[in-house]
Amino acid sequence: MSTTITVIPGDGIGPEVTAATLDILKAAGAELEYDTQHAGVGALETHLTPLPDETLDSLRRNRVSLKGPLTTPVGTGFRSINVAIRKEFDLYANVRPALSLVPGGRYENVDLVLIRENTEGLYVGVEHYIGVGNDPRAAAESVMIITRFGAERAVRYAFDFARKNKRRKVTLAHKANILKYTQGLFLEAGREVARDYPEIQFEDRIIDATAMALVMNPWEFDVLVMENMFGDILSDLMAGLVGGLGFTPAGNIGLNAAMFEAVHGSAPDIAGKGVANPSALLLAGCMLLDHVGQPEVADRIRASLKTVVLDRTEATRDMGGSATTREFTQAVIRGLDAAG
Ligand code: NAD
Repeated sequence: MSTTITVIPGDGIGPEVTAATLDILKAAGAELEYDTQHAGVGALETHLTPLPDETLDSLRRNRVSLKGPLTTPVGTGFRSINVAIRKEFDLYANVRPALSLVPGGRYENVDLVLIRENTEGLYVGVEHYIGVGNDPRAAAESVMIITRFGAERAVRYAFDFARKNKRRKVTLAHKANILKYTQGLFLEAGREVARDYPEIQFEDRIIDATAMALVMNPWEFDVLVMENMFGDILSDLMAGLVGGLGFTPAGNIGLNAAMFEAVHGSAPDIAGKGVANPSALLLAGCMLLDHVGQPEVADRIRASLKTVVLDRTEATRDMGGSATTREFTQAVIRGLDAAG
């Protein structure tokens, strides 16, 4: 049975990589219907708001979405729509796979998944200045919020993910040696959850040591879970291990909704030129297919994508080639037959 999903093409290169992704999903036989909606700077121009009610209604209705990158004005203007959507739908687990695909990346055979708690920590944005004497901004304070509820559900998601995907180990990275209350609570909650999954190896590590170990020997790890800001930083580090943001998708998962996206932004420098690499959004589309129960279609797309990337004849500019988005897309579509 076909699943209807909300599609938000987004800003900058968003519409180009979204069109490429939908072409490939269609050619691969994905049973999806698309409810296309606007958000971001484009929506501000057409709907006078960066997050129109129609878009929110569609997300509420369909519960599963594929989202292109959205431009966020720096310093002024509206706040991040990505963050607003995550909050509105309580998308508490950010799933960031890092899989070696591109030859010439720093490491071969890396296959890691980081689960980042997506709603708490320092990113709740509880911060303010403290005035001293004549200086109203002499100091600044930010509050890290960790709840047992938030920590437990993120760690549980990591273990459920490990179980479902036959992963062997979960590493919880933290800084409980210094931040004994907040990070300590995250660790305590994690240790409790781990007891329910005796077949999966569990370890905890200090975040800074984890960063070094990831660079020295990434194969030591499998699934990693951590609070919001640590996850934000280490997930980009992990993208760097496997060839950069051009190939990095993300899932934002809640109890009743899920949003899949590329990790990269709207790339205004190449927008409209037809040279963007659609791989990250395509891989996000594959995560979406896994999520809605069409993993065989996802596997075929991943196999074809891998062949095209390894072959290098149709490499896009960021991969060191000169193929256009369209040429790359057509190559992936042609490769689907060989992929089964
Ligand atoms: P960016 O990821 O858009 O671009 C960084 C560099 O990578 C640029 O040189 C760009 O050309 C290149 N690049 C990115 N994606 C590419 C692709 N698919 N193919 C080829 N090259 C690619 O980061 P930025 O310039 O810092 O951000 C631009 C805008 O995107 C900002 O407004 C930012 O807020 C927004 N952003 C949105 C998201 C999101 O919606 N999830 C994520 C990150 C940034």
